[in-house]
Amino acid sequence: MDEIIKLRPHHLLCTQGYSGKGYSDDFVSNMDRVTEKLRSDRGVKIEITFSTDSLCSNCPLKVSDGVCKSDNKVLRFDASIINILDLKEGVYSYQDLISRLDKYLSSGVCDERLKAICGDCEWYSVSACWKNIRDKKYATMPWSSYVTCGSASDCSE
Ligand code: SF4
Repeated sequence: MDEIIKLRPHHLLCTQGYSGKGYSDDFVSNMDRVTEKLRSDRGVKIEITFSTDSLCSNCPLKVSDGVCKSDNKVLRFDASIINILDLKEGVYSYQDLISRLDKYLSSGVCDERLKAICGDCEWYSVSACWKNIRDKKYATMPWSSYVTCGSASDCSE
């Protein structure tokens, strides 16, 4: 995959939690391809977009460019991530962003910070979002290089 992967802000979470289930076969096969690249190439760059992205492109809920059937939820999820990371549209290191984000999320009590962002997503209990973030499964940069956002949690749930 040589093209740059475009991600809307909340897909920084979905690409970590994805566990092989999705809206349709086409969506899953595209998600497999994109997450394989993001999870295996530690230096991969992504383009943050505040619109529909490389994952929405194969999603049955995409209505048209920039419009999702679930905009009432996904725009709220995006806004939270924009606020936490002070994001602008543009090119970033995927590892840089998810490491900063995961450090913030892991500094709360158990999954309270993640739940506050997207706890009402239909995939929250299906995918491995919190488990993978808590276990630092994909964010491999040392968190010591980032500002602490709260007290460390020893939650094992
Ligand atoms: S549900 Fe909406 S935001 Fe999520 S992948 Fe589909 S079109 Fe994109």
